[in-house]
Amino acid sequence: MVEEEHTQEFILEKECELRFEVESKGQKVELELKSGLAEVFGTELVKQKKYKFSNGSKVAVFTWHGCTLQLTGRTEVAYIAKETPMSIYSNCHQALEELRKKADEDDLPGPVVMIVGPRDVGKTTLCKILLNYAARMHRRPTYVDLDVTRAQICMPGCIGAIRVERQLNPAEGFHVQSPLTYHFGKLSPNDNIDHYNIAVTELAKHSKLTDNKKTKISGTIINTPAWVKGESEKLILHAIESFKVDAVLVLDQERLYNELVKIKPESLKAILIPKSGGVVAKSQLQRDEIREIFIKEYFYGGRIPLYPHSFEVKWSDVNIFKIGAPLLPSSCMPVGMKVEDNSTKIVNITPSLSILHHVLCVTFAQSAETIFETNLAGFVVVTNVDVDRQCLTLLSPQPGPLMHNHLILSDLQFMDTH
Ligand code: ATP
Ligand code: MN
Repeated sequence: MVEEEHTQEFILEKECELRFEVESKGQKVELELKSGLAEVFGTELVKQKKYKFSNGSKVAVFTWHGCTLQLTGRTEVAYIAKETPMSIYSNCHQALEELRKKADEDDLPGPVVMIVGPRDVGKTTLCKILLNYAARMHRRPTYVDLDVTRAQICMPGCIGAIRVERQLNPAEGFHVQSPLTYHFGKLSPNDNIDHYNIAVTELAKHSKLTDNKKTKISGTIINTPAWVKGESEKLILHAIESFKVDAVLVLDQERLYNELVKIKPESLKAILIPKSGGVVAKSQLQRDEIREIFIKEYFYGGRIPLYPHSFEVKWSDVNIFKIGAPLLPSSCMPVGMKVEDNSTKIVNITPSLSILHHVLCVTFAQSAETIFETNLAGFVVVTNVDVDRQCLTLLSPQPGPLMHNHLILSDLQFMDTH
């Protein structure tokens, strides 16, 4: 419940932002634009409309020309900042607009821009800002999320793409109907870099397919996992190549920028841009919570509740695969034989208790051979394994039986406590 008595009013001058956080469990804070113009991460606010933010929200309301805002409910932090990098972010958007106009004239694909940077520098936020600004210009950009650690547009452990047709709802973030999703199944690209790169190649190939001119010229904005020195270079370069990236925006770190300049193809533009002082770091616990909430909402809904289904399937009616087999130690190999790299081997597994609570990705693939190149139809969770009867119980957004019987095991787990 919103505490009616707890109302704060803020008067912002031009090019300032109000930053606030909602921390306590169960708290909701309502934001209302009273006068002037304002935006949340690029989305224009509608005057007199109440935007409800739930706990975990860390928000900035920026104004180009000045405004009056009202917050109702308990905020942990709420202050006005005068220093923001918004004019730089807006310049990035302007540059992309110029490229889109040029693409339109020449009937070529629009700009492909990738955002990289270390942890907690506002990578995802910058993607949102650029996407929202594009949507405000009636563009229809493609958003690609290569970050498997977070859940923004698809299940954690997966990578995906969506077309953004309108500004995001500031209180809900990405509203995802049906992203184009590819399985990876692990929470860090480095857990299986070869498989990760295959998934990125496939996503790049398929997310580009379009007959729609508006989509084509609007270009692509690519979000990436936090850059870890010595680990991320290979995957960033692979993604740059796969998506034919035109420009990389490096958030915050000069060291990382210099690193990228050293290894990047010559033709690729790299631009160092500052992070916002408002970006809030997340603890590991908060990251785990965000993931958990995403999975829960996939099955049970958020603001609008969903009613998932639970049903049994016989082991004989499904094929469960996992990617990668353990390496055989070379001592087990016959003399003269090399140890095979099994990291991208597709292995057919027999259900056992070890898959209990695991997320299974339902693939459109009709055969094991086409698993890598085929996108996902959805997700189910294994809620019971009956070894005697050779049955699995699945939690699924759709009623049984399964429409597709090829499933891929993910490392991700979900305890269905409903
Ligand atoms: P990760 O490394 O986890 O991918 P990131 O670099 O993508 O993080 P964001 O998720 O964009 O960082 O931002 C971290 C948090 O800071 C988010 O909750 C976001 O809403 C908040 N945030 C971003 N910019 C601002 C700002 N100017 N004022 C207040 N909060 C902000
Ligand atoms: Mn992010």
